[in-house]
Amino acid sequence: MESSQQLFFERPGRLCWRTVETPTIEGPGQALVRPLAVARCDLDAAIVEGRAPFRGAALHWLRDRLPGSVGQRRLFRDAPFAGPFPFGHECVAEVLDVGEEVRTVKAGDRVVVPFQIACGACDRCGRGVTASCTAVPHAATYGLGRGAWGGVLGDVVRVPFADAMLLAAPAGVASVELASAGDNVADGYRTVAGPLRTRPGAPVLVVGGEAASVGLYAVLAAVALGSTEVAYLDPDASRTRIAESLGARSIGRRYRKAAQGYPITVDASAAPEGLKSAVLSTEPGGVCTSVGIYLAPTTPFPLLPAFMNGITFHTSRVSSRAVLPEVLAAIGAGVLRPSRVQTTIAPWDLAAEAFLEPAAKVVVERAALR
Ligand SMILES: [Zn+2]
Ligand SMILES: [Zn+2]
Repeated sequence: MESSQQLFFERPGRLCWRTVETPTIEGPGQALVRPLAVARCDLDAAIVEGRAPFRGAALHWLRDRLPGSVGQRRLFRDAPFAGPFPFGHECVAEVLDVGEEVRTVKAGDRVVVPFQIACGACDRCGRGVTASCTAVPHAATYGLGRGAWGGVLGDVVRVPFADAMLLAAPAGVASVELASAGDNVADGYRTVAGPLRTRPGAPVLVVGGEAASVGLYAVLAAVALGSTEVAYLDPDASRTRIAESLGARSIGRRYRKAAQGYPITVDASAAPEGLKSAVLSTEPGGVCTSVGIYLAPTTPFPLLPAFMNGITFHTSRVSSRAVLPEVLAAIGAGVLRPSRVQTTIAPWDLAAEAFLEPAAKVVVERAALR
């Protein structure tokens, strides 16, 4: 029996390499891939810092003890989180082997792997709701302790629905540009791409925060897709500087209603005050998309102003696989360059240390086998 290395989340502040049984092909539609570059999701950062108790048990613990009005940050800090589990869920990879029914990829191909497991054949996958595929348990993903899918900070990863999930990496594009495409880049992109199609050139406001890189990728995408004015609101000075480097204009460092309304707003704060800022700053008829994860049983929402202004409010996990083709086309064409969101790049072997670094984005990278 072959063994390989897999990075595990052990507990906040500690990631460890463990020797695991190497995954094998168990069905004709599967593939095995070797991750080449792995990015740290904003949720990974919260997990390693002990701020993300999203497992069922921890959620109940929260519900039993804390009222919904308590600050999100304190909720995160005080709650337990149970490791160990295989870590990492954003990657670009090389195909090692495929089952006999796999047609779209072959050994040696470089592919982008969506972080969510999706069959491509069920009704929801058919409608683009690949985040909630009915062929697998709810919210099945790599690297978050949800099911036996493993983590992509490993030598070999099994992809259960290879034809449906895997997408060819654009030729000639560095792996570091693609590592986060399957999650945070796609998440930021979708907040503005659809609304900008409806209203080309429209001004965009991004309210930054806990979903640190998602908010910055939203800025990157808004500028790339032709928004004439991208505004940024975030209490954090370093993220604000990065947003400015991408072409955004800072409108302050305290969550509050903006001086003007925006037709497209994005809440990446995961903070009730940030959510309120984004909703109140959405102009009549505008669209507000929230990507933050609100763990409290209920979260305050300014429903009356939203009603009076007739805004559209959208909140969801990204449907990674459904968004990816457009994201990869934009990266392949050079329109979208995710590495412009200031990224710490580290060698693969230093992932356990690099993933603890206080950076907007961390990518670990290794060379292909061949
Ligand atoms: Zn993620
Ligand atoms: Zn499905």
